[in-house]
Amino acid sequence: MTFEAKRARGVTMSFEFFPPKTEAAEEKFWQSLEALAPLKPSMVSVTYGAGGSDRERTTRMVSEVKKRTGLEAAAHLTCVGASRDEVDEVVRGYQAAGINHIVALRGDPPAGIGERFETRPDGYRDGADLVAGIRKIGDFDISVAAYPEKHPESRDWQFDIDNLKRKVDAGANRAITQMFFDNADYWRFLDRCTKAGISVPIVPGIQPIHNFVQVSRFAAKCKARIPGELTRRFEGVEAGTDLHGMLAAATAAQQVTELLEGGVTAFHFFTMNRSELVIALARLLGH
Ligand code: FAD
Repeated sequence: MTFEAKRARGVTMSFEFFPPKTEAAEEKFWQSLEALAPLKPSMVSVTYGAGGSDRERTTRMVSEVKKRTGLEAAAHLTCVGASRDEVDEVVRGYQAAGINHIVALRGDPPAGIGERFETRPDGYRDGADLVAGIRKIGDFDISVAAYPEKHPESRDWQFDIDNLKRKVDAGANRAITQMFFDNADYWRFLDRCTKAGISVPIVPGIQPIHNFVQVSRFAAKCKARIPGELTRRFEGVEAGTDLHGMLAAATAAQQVTELLEGGVTAFHFFTMNRSELVIALARLLGH
């Protein structure tokens, strides 16, 4: 099949935003969303603050996204540091507001990944337990997280894939991956999922490199590997310059076109509340 034919099959895209903390950032959020909305994403998701913070901001932004754009809006929800009752109340709030899609996550302790996640006796145990809890409340569309390079806390691959399977068996409709920069990791991961009988879509999470230093820092936190070739490519190139922009566009274009060639038909973009690169990628994908 030619590239054009693959593109013509119809590629869907979803966009992830984070809740803005200042008025200026909120303005940027809406500007970016307005620019991206005509691309008709399958959903726009809004993240939940680390350690379960920012709950109000996420709730407000998700509801506003739906109201202002009419697009399917999804709320990220973590269960870390909260009781079941508290989490259930948030879920019921979404139900009442007509938010039908939840990205269900365990979350990390406030100190971050690598710190031991402590289960609260009155809380959800993990992502799978949270999915089961949400399913009991209502008929939500539920996405969960997946890790092409294995979750840093998983002792081995078997454990990691079993964990994803538990989330799917509990009722998740799809998985969205952590950012990754080597497509080979994604293909190997898909293979492991297929062998384990996981049949829901595993949507690749694409992180456009708006700012290499920032993205590297974030990738290090969540233990996503930056290949040496990428480091070499961006070495000494300042963010915000034309050259950085061109390298970022070329890098992301290479990643998504390879994935499309390999058969991927749904993409999730971590927008960082920005629109330019994502618009370019969408055009490349036929939108
Ligand atoms: P789980 O699937 O519950 O578990 C992940 C790993 O933890 C497992 O692989 C396993 O190694 C270990 N584990 C789980 N249960 C047990 C157990 N019982 N015993 C031992 N080990 C266990 N974080 C936020 O705070 N807010 C967000 O909005 C957010 N959005 C995200 C969106 C995407 C697409 C992705 C990929 C991640 C997101 N995260 C977010 C990060 C996520 O919260 C962290 O990666 C967290 O460390 C794991 O969450 P999970 O739902 O994958 O956990």
